[in-house]
Amino acid sequence: MRSKIVAGNWKMNKNLAETKALIADLVAKLPETNAEVMVAPTFVNLTNAVDGVKSSKIEVLAQNMHFAESGAYTGEISADMLINIGINTVILGHSERRAYFGETDDILAKKVKTALDKNLRVMFCFGEELEDRKSGNHFSLVESQLKNALFSLPESAWSNIVLAYEPVWAIGTGETASPEQAQEMHAFIRKTIADAYNAEVADNVSILYGGSVKPANAKEIFSKEDVDGGLIGGAALAADDFVAIINGI
Ligand code: PEP
Repeated sequence: MRSKIVAGNWKMNKNLAETKALIADLVAKLPETNAEVMVAPTFVNLTNAVDGVKSSKIEVLAQNMHFAESGAYTGEISADMLINIGINTVILGHSERRAYFGETDDILAKKVKTALDKNLRVMFCFGEELEDRKSGNHFSLVESQLKNALFSLPESAWSNIVLAYEPVWAIGTGETASPEQAQEMHAFIRKTIADAYNAEVADNVSILYGGSVKPANAKEIFSKEDVDGGLIGGAALAADDFVAIINGI
């Protein structure tokens, strides 16, 4: 059975004091929910965030990691370093990593493999640019992103993968895919996985939607059959908004 998930990607926001305050606020306001609730602060504040969520069901995620075990990779963070501070899940393939830091499908395939080999759960992000959608290329683009980074993995790896479909044109723009557009793509993703593996793998993988999800639109998006929750950027930076989104699931 796939789980419902609401995850907040804090990106390069919140200093240490702000991180502690937001975590404390979330822990205090977290509603009763069957959904998994996750937050991804910046690397330097992960340890404090892990401490801060201890009395709650909130999980702390990392926003990225390197594919190498260790070594001469100045400025990078390894899977073991994350595990060592109590992180169990890492976001990989966010569109900002792809666009601003040159992360290709090949690099992401290596990162995914390392993370899974280390028993980290992977939240894998992917999605089309506006030009892809305008030209009608969005389904094949999404299919190729999945195929290139994930489809060489054995079936057993899929129990440790969460997908986050994030159309790039909807991230941080205020422009949201309509619930119907989200459902259409999520159903396509599930079918693509069923074709590459089987129906059981496809049915059991959680597929989150990301892209300008707000308290006002969360419930409708989350109501769609193949949408299992959301990856939230801007609206995850205020406890009341994030809680309202959690309440939409
Ligand atoms: C994101 O960056 O993953 C995201 C979905 O951002 P926003 O909610 O701000 O569009």
